[in-house]
Amino acid sequence: MARGRDASQARKGAVAALGKGLSRRARSRCELCAGDQDPRVIEVPPTEDEPSEDAAILACLLCRDDLDSKKLGDLGRLRFLETAIWSETPPVQVLAVRLLRRVAESEDWARETLDGLWLDEAMSARVDAS
Ligand SMILES: [Zn+2]
Repeated sequence: MARGRDASQARKGAVAALGKGLSRRARSRCELCAGDQDPRVIEVPPTEDEPSEDAAILACLLCRDDLDSKKLGDLGRLRFLETAIWSETPPVQVLAVRLLRRVAESEDWARETLDGLWLDEAMSARVDAS
């Protein structure tokens, strides 16, 4: 088993290797907002030992920024979440719901959208497990 730096390098490589499959699934666009600004593979926690397409999505620069930073960017832009939370791709749905919950702290439309959302037990547990 590789450790430390080696392991993290190996993981990065494995995550990047998902790019091909994800690009096909996502038609090379951001799976959240359908934007095409520098889409890259990101993992969706909780992650398994081996990176997999079921725990990763293709996300554009803007969405990666919103997911990474404490402060959300343009809240109006995030309206795409109204449809993204119904995604049939589980990791996309998970991230969309998590992001929408953050938007709902300040935006009425986001709260209303969340009110109309129904998740089965497994999905709901997965959204909460981060
Ligand atoms: Zn995006």
